[in-house]
Amino acid sequence: MNLKDKKIVVIGMGKTGLATVRFLGGQGARVIATDEKPPEKWGAAFEQIAGGNWLTTGAYNAGILEGACMVVPSPGVPPSNEILQAAVKANMPVTSEVELAYHFLKSPILAVTGTNGKTTTTTLLGEILERAGKKVFVGGNIGNPLIEFAGTNQVADFVVAEISSFQLQWIEKFRPFVAVLLNITCDHVNYHGSFAEYSRIKARVFENQTKSDFAILNAEDPQQKSMTSSVRAQVAGFSSKNELPTGIFIKDENIIFHNLNGEEEQYPLSMIKIPGLHNVENVMAAIMAARFCGCGRKSIIDTISGFSGLPHRIEFAGEKKSVRYYDDSKGTNVGSVIRALDTFSAPVILLLGGRDKDGDFQNLKPLLAAKAKQVILFGEARDRIGSLIGKSVPSVKVPTLQAAIESACESGRAGDVVLLSPGCASFDEFNNYKERGNFFKNVVRNL
Ligand code: ADP
Repeated sequence: MNLKDKKIVVIGMGKTGLATVRFLGGQGARVIATDEKPPEKWGAAFEQIAGGNWLTTGAYNAGILEGACMVVPSPGVPPSNEILQAAVKANMPVTSEVELAYHFLKSPILAVTGTNGKTTTTTLLGEILERAGKKVFVGGNIGNPLIEFAGTNQVADFVVAEISSFQLQWIEKFRPFVAVLLNITCDHVNYHGSFAEYSRIKARVFENQTKSDFAILNAEDPQQKSMTSSVRAQVAGFSSKNELPTGIFIKDENIIFHNLNGEEEQYPLSMIKIPGLHNVENVMAAIMAARFCGCGRKSIIDTISGFSGLPHRIEFAGEKKSVRYYDDSKGTNVGSVIRALDTFSAPVILLLGGRDKDGDFQNLKPLLAAKAKQVILFGEARDRIGSLIGKSVPSVKVPTLQAAIESACESGRAGDVVLLSPGCASFDEFNNYKERGNFFKNVVRNL
């Protein structure tokens, strides 16, 4: 792909947009940058590159497309955006940053997508590959954008990429050597327009694969059942419920992998230190991906045994008066709340709330009745969630997370678990889920 002297519009000046601008500049393109915020607010990283005659800034409207030959939207820009709509109407290519990076990367890509578990699985897979002696770049939706690595011209044995639905929205040729689709549950419907469209976009991760590639699917996911027939790559499923003729599953105390050559490999379940069956699923997907890249069994077992998980994903936050507190601030949709509740056998006091993403909280009702002793609803979404969960479990409403923690502390009795798994975004009270999780841990520490 020759970008020299091409006029390219980049929308959104966050981390990915800025990395894209820098990359395009390096390729000799003429870049026009825009964002809903004015340039003074694009930060120091933009100021460093501003001033070059290859880079201009422009208004945040469709007029900016004048004379351009391509648009690269940042992941946060929804397809309904006026500029994107105008570009599509004018048949102008709209290209995501990962698609652009794909054309320049010289290393095979392992792409991990799904509604939940992407970061955990991507991180674990990256660590396994490293332990197995491979040179890897881990990035995408976490850490550094792929375009940044593409710009270095370096070659890795593998690029391990967390890929969101936003990034898959505008791909054309993006073809991972291994594609993992962990699960599809309701999320980001505001962005994609419908759940059906969100599922369709997720399946695009397999779209350009060929027979020499590998597709890892969740054999228990109803959304994925119909996808298998159209996948051209070699398919391997994972299941936490049933045995599979080809693929990976749980049997007694072991994980069994029936590989594509018809051989059986075993991994002890006891090697997994991170909680919940959902994490066994993440581990199973990572094992298969690592094996397809030639990693040995020992590197896999050693890495998984030493992997203690990531902050804010059902992270133990402390124990007070024999009540255990867990921070699952990254649980920002109903699917992740379900898996978090499933993890505990003790009575749970659940802290739910924040900024609503139109989550289908009604789905929580049976599990709340079975597992939760009380739900404490907080933040902007408290009234809506309250009306959706009804009387399936005793609940109280409080305005803030601080008040929710205090209320949980009063209700908690020895043996209970207090779980912050909010099922909502954090932006009504915090800048992001990390700030929310750290706030929770801090308050718990000082109880
Ligand atoms: P993502 O990057 O997709 O958001 P994370 O690994 O950051 O995934 O986890 C986000 C949330 O989803 C956490 O609450 C975590 O406990 C939960 N989670 C992790 N893996 C899974 C899974 N396989 N299925 C459902 N929920 C999961």
